[in-house]
Parts: sequence; structure tokens; C-alpha cells
Amino acid sequence: MYQDTQLYIDGTWRAARSGRTIPVLNPATEEVIGQVAHAGKDDLDEALAAAEKGFATWKKVSAFDRAKLMRKAADILRSRADEVARLMTLEQGKPLPEAKIEVMAAADIIDWFAEEARRAYGRVVPARAEGVYQLVVKEPVGPVAAFTPWNFPINQVVRKLSAAVATGCSIIVKAPEETPASPAMLVKAFVDAGLPAGVVNLVYGVPAEISEYLIPHPVIRKVTFTGSTPVGKHLAALAGAHMKRVTMELGGHAPAIVFDDADLDLAVKTLAGAKFRNAGQVCVSPTRFLVQEKLYEPFVEKFVAVAKGLKVGDGMAEGTQMGPLAHDRRVPWVEGLVADARQRGAEVHAGGERIGNKGYFYQPTVLTGVGKDARMMNEEPFGPLAMIAPFKEFDEVVEEANRLPFGLAAYAFTRSAKTANAVAAKVETGMMTINHLGLALPEVPFGGVKDSGYGSEGGSEAIEAYLNTKFVSQAGL
Ligand code: NAD
Repeated sequence: MYQDTQLYIDGTWRAARSGRTIPVLNPATEEVIGQVAHAGKDDLDEALAAAEKGFATWKKVSAFDRAKLMRKAADILRSRADEVARLMTLEQGKPLPEAKIEVMAAADIIDWFAEEARRAYGRVVPARAEGVYQLVVKEPVGPVAAFTPWNFPINQVVRKLSAAVATGCSIIVKAPEETPASPAMLVKAFVDAGLPAGVVNLVYGVPAEISEYLIPHPVIRKVTFTGSTPVGKHLAALAGAHMKRVTMELGGHAPAIVFDDADLDLAVKTLAGAKFRNAGQVCVSPTRFLVQEKLYEPFVEKFVAVAKGLKVGDGMAEGTQMGPLAHDRRVPWVEGLVADARQRGAEVHAGGERIGNKGYFYQPTVLTGVGKDARMMNEEPFGPLAMIAPFKEFDEVVEEANRLPFGLAAYAFTRSAKTANAVAAKVETGMMTINHLGLALPEVPFGGVKDSGYGSEGGSEAIEAYLNTKFVSQAGL
């Protein structure tokens, strides 16, 4: 059912020149289910040469024709959604319906970028002298190096790949070694749609070795990374030293603020769904639940009931609502955070333990009384942990929301338009969603502020990130 994954370089699926591979595990069973090719420097050199050549070809293709090919790729991906979703669940662990949603959403993202790049308009600036034309022209930035993580194996790639391909760039994707087969199927949809050799190249290997080699390389003109803040800072510094354009989509620690006048049931249902999706391994996952005094106790009670009622299991099994953590490093991380909070006096209302000893399962966990000095109140849990705390006043909750260096997503629930406007204005965040889940659609900006990074992976801002601005001033003779 599962398949080994090869590199895709210069229009060819192939093994690494060294023949090296890395094993891929199913996080629900810990069994080795396949192998992924491990790129070395010679493979990367070939990918760089291919990306240079691919860019020279692809930038000459009109946005109209690029869009036609991309829409074909989107349709191919949709037609294979069941197969791709199965691969994703086997390698990543998320429930099969969640994997299918991710694949179908990826196809929509491809369509949207294809269309939006056709509207990468420049402009004409009125000149000071007669007969002078001042043109602002948009051009593709050039070959891109993209680094993507394992939590959304396809979605993290498709935003970067679609923006690059739509604008006429070429790209080398370093996709996640933990979850290689599903992103390879995304690339295959583009290949089968007729994408010329060299435009998209796909590699896997040791992330640090690949980034240290690709980012400084003169062929690469833009770097885009999704992952943790410490790695992001390191890669941004490297890109800065070599003057490369950068997009950084990094960690978060989202506040979810529930005011006294909120619709309690709506808040619980919406936030619990968002918290435990993908076992909490989501950069925009709500993490610090800040509930105003009047609703605090009923909120805790209802939220705990949802957490306790979730069916945790193998993502391939019918009815599973939450799968395992995605790889072996996640379990000790989450265990360490919970042990630290317990030691500092936190109360665990639900979960708090690993499930079994086979597969990386961890219980949906709800805690209260977690001090601000606890690690989980400062570091991104990236797991199924919800910390709930009461607050009294508006200013107090805003201060807590803004306490951390992160600023990716924030959630609020209130029936007052005045409170909604005020909280949206005061919270330092790249994205805010109020009374519903409204983040991450292809047509809206997606990105953070502060230590959560910069740049956007959605909306027209995401297209802009792959374009250079050229100014041309022309006097008629
Ligand atoms: P990690 O920090 O080692 O890796 C995170 C991602 O960055 C992985 O995909 C990894 O391959 C990549 N990476 C690491 N070092 C790199 C380097 N030098 N060059 C290029 N890529 C590199 O840890 P992890 O256990 O895989 O994930 C843990 C943390 O990463 C999480 O707690 C979370 O903060 C963050 N993360 C964030 C996202 C997101 O969507 N923003 C996704 C996955 C992980």
C-alpha cells in the first residue's frame, strides 16, 4: 500500500547518487513502511543546475499558459485524492478524513494561485515630462529553495510550490523526511500535467546539510521555510548573509479569548475542534485558553468533556478523531512539558499520559492552574495540550495574549462588536479569527509577526513574495 519515495530532479524520478535511503515509519504502529532517497551534494548540484535551467524556460511561459497547466495539476490531484490521503495517513498519522481534506484543499490552493498570478499587474506611474512612460513591472524572483515540515505534508509544500510555479519561478523543495510520499504525489500531479523538467525539483536528506548548501548558493534567489522559530532564525540569518528574499512561517502559541458575552457552546465546539485537529501539531493551534470569569467554570467542564470523549487511534481506522503524534521526538517533548507543569502545581483535568507503548499516541490533555513560568506557557507545545486560565478585565487578557514573543494566530469569542473590534486591534498577531474558524483559505493572508516570522503564504501577498519589482522609465524619441 505504501511506496518508497525517490528524488525528482531535472524531470526524472531517481534514487540518490549515493544510493542512500532513510526509513519511513508509520507513527501509529512504529513499523518501517518504506524508504525515502537521501540526497547528497552531487544530487543538490544537479537540482540547482536543473532549477537554473527550469527557470530560464518557465519564466518565458505566459501566466495564462502556466495557469492552464496548474489547473490541470489540481484536477489530477483531486482525482487521486483517496490514494494520496491514504499515503499521508500512513506516514503522518492524522485521521484519513483530515488527510483527504488536506489533499482537496491543496487542489483549491493550486487553482487559486494559478488564477491570481494572472493578475500580477504592474502599474504606470504618471511622468513629470511629456512622452515619458514610467512602468512598474513584476518579474519572477528566480529559483526558490523551500523547506517544509511534516505536520501538513502537502499543504506546507503546495503554498510555496504553487506561488513559485504560478509566478514563473523554479523551485527546489526539501520536503519532510518523516512524511515523504504524499508531497511526492503532489509533485507528480504537476509532472503529469506536463510541467517542463527543472521547474520543480524535490529532495530529501539531512535538513541542516541541505539548507546550508542551498541557501548560500548563487542560483537560489529566494528562501521559504515553515518550521520552528529557532531554526527559522538560523535560516533567516543565513539568507540575510547572502541577501536572499525570505518568507518565514514559524511557531505560534495562539491565545483563544472567550469573553463573558460569548456563545459558550460555539466557543467550546470550535476551539476544541481546532485544538485537537492533527493532534495539536498545527502552528495556529489554539493553546492558551483565556476565559472571562463568568464563563470559566462551565467552559472548563464542557471542554474537558469534549477532550475525554475523543476517539484516539490509528488514523486509518473508521471513526478515529485524533491520531498519534507524528514522530518519535514529539512524545518526550509533550511528556516533558506536562511533567514540568505538574511539578509546578498545575491540575490535569483530562489526559496527561501517553497511550500504550506502541505508536506515538498521547491523550487529549486539558490543564488549569498552569503558572506563567511553566514551560508549556512559553514554548510551543505542538501537541494535544490545552491550558485554560480565567481573566477579569479586557486589558489583563490583552497583556497575557501579547506576553509571548510569538504572534501567529489568535482567536476570540464575543457577542459584542465593540469588544471584537478592540481585541482585533490590540492583540499582536498576524491572524485573528472571531466567533468562527476563518484562517488559512488560499485567498487570505497567512503569516505571523514577531518571532512567528514574516511574509505571507496566502492571498495576493503570497504572490508578491515571489515577484521582483522592476522600474522602467522610457522616453519616446
Ligand atoms: P525541528 O525544529 O527539528 O524541525 C522542524 C522542521 O524544520 C522540520 O521539518 C525539519 O526538517 C526542519 N529543519 C530543522 N532543522 C533544519 C535546518 N537546519 N534546515 C532546514 N530545515 C530544518 O523539530 P521537529 O521535532 O520536527 O518539530 C518541532 C517543532 O517545530 C515544533 O515544536 C514546532 O515549533 C515546529 N514546527 C512548526 C511547524 C509549523 O507549521 N510552523 C511545523 C512543524 C514543526
